[in-house]
Amino acid sequence: MSDKTILVWFRNDLRIRDNEILLEAVRKADKVLPVYCFDPYYFQTTATGGHKTGSFRARFLLEAVADLRKNLQAFGAELLIRIGNPAGIIPLLAEEYHVSEVYHHREVAYEETRISEQVEAALWKMKLNLKHFIGHTMYHKEDLPFPIKDIPDSFAVFKKKVERESSVRPVVPTPDHITVPEIADAGELPTLHQLGLTEPVDDPRATENFQGGETAALVQLHKSLAGIDSPAKQKGKNGNDASTKLSPWMSIGCISPRQVYWETQKYGNNGNLLKLELLWRDYFRFMFKKHGQKFISAKNQAAELAADQNALFEKWKLGETGVPLIDAAMHELNATGYISNQNRQIVANYLVNTLKADWTKGAAYFEEKLIDYSPASNWGNWAFIAGVNDAKESKYAIATKLPKELEAKTDFVLTWQPSSIDEAGDLVEA
Ligand SMILES: Cc1cc2nc3c(=O)[nH]c(=O)nc-3n(C[C@H](O)[C@H](O)[C@H](O)COP(=O)(O)OP(=O)(O)OC[C@H]3O[C@@H](n4cnc5c(N)ncnc54)[C@H](O)[C@@H]3O)c2cc1C
Repeated sequence: MSDKTILVWFRNDLRIRDNEILLEAVRKADKVLPVYCFDPYYFQTTATGGHKTGSFRARFLLEAVADLRKNLQAFGAELLIRIGNPAGIIPLLAEEYHVSEVYHHREVAYEETRISEQVEAALWKMKLNLKHFIGHTMYHKEDLPFPIKDIPDSFAVFKKKVERESSVRPVVPTPDHITVPEIADAGELPTLHQLGLTEPVDDPRATENFQGGETAALVQLHKSLAGIDSPAKQKGKNGNDASTKLSPWMSIGCISPRQVYWETQKYGNNGNLLKLELLWRDYFRFMFKKHGQKFISAKNQAAELAADQNALFEKWKLGETGVPLIDAAMHELNATGYISNQNRQIVANYLVNTLKADWTKGAAYFEEKLIDYSPASNWGNWAFIAGVNDAKESKYAIATKLPKELEAKTDFVLTWQPSSIDEAGDLVEA
């Protein structure tokens, strides 16, 4: 009898640890074929002349895929890298390597699910199954105290029920071996140039040096949690910053929210405050699963649009509004691909409610620029700020006013923090 081979289609789960599809494939098959596709869809030029994926995120992704390949090679395995539409590539590889099943982690946002539907349809014609796994959230969908259709739209209610009635699963073991078939052509990692991008210029003012990959993610995890129980790192008190800066790695799955959760649990109450942030992340993903695109398009933007909103948007994106804080934050975003949560809220709120420009332009601009872009988190947060969904009762902590003391700050000098955030994640007035 011939060997059974399972193709593991890596997407936003670029890791070996706590990766259920990899572990299951190793357990169920004799051989595993790990594959990553650089889909040109994500590297296209947008209607406004920008890039769907900016160069900071693309470089980070290239580093992450290279690191995954290196880590698989340490097992004597290999990662096949291809450039092209997965709906064309996956079936071809499945045929070439006599694959009996394909595994992947299911996504929630529209574009990602559309791509997997196309792959599924192409495999179906070959009588092959695309098996969907759930693995992007801290709480497993099956462990929630309600079916997806009944998930409360209010974050506060969601949080209360989940924390009371659900628990986070342990991480899954790392495989002890990974056997791949004989591979004729593993494929080269593309260059940024091949993806239609140029090398980003690193700004010396950047506070972080984000290096893609599971290896760097684990270093960042331990670095960011070191001293979490010290008073200086306590979140939400006196504006101290306990931000982990893990989001770029979490967005493409170099580390899982479960791994972060279990590590934070070693730190008592401070770990629990970080759990709250992870819960927000889960919430947005579950909202997309429940409502689909309706979550971000249920209503029109609350504020009426300005007649010159296109010109105002251009000024906003270049950091030329004349408001020092907004301009500094946008310069930082453009120069580094990262800004803090508070600054994201401030610039988004300013675009929507002060400039009265179309929020979807801001969200699309963040999609290009953010190194940690994640569809549910980005579009979900923007939709909240624009007031286009019905989740208002979530008491989401949106910074609505520009703090006066920041008006004199220069580029990248962004010290303002909310006076305090309570345990529910809400802003507390000074
Ligand atoms: C307009 C806007 C757009 C955003 N776009 C994105 C995005 O594309 N990708 C993204 O990962 N986050 C996004 N966020 C959420 C948040 O700003 C970032 O997750 C956070 O700044 C990342 O920094 P950190 O890793 O230090 O977070 P920490 O404070 O250390 O939190 C730990 C993790 O929890 C998650 N998280 C924290 N806050 C949120 C939140 N409000 N919503 C969802 N997840 C959260 C992130 O994965 C983060 O890494 C957006 C927020 C706003 C207001």
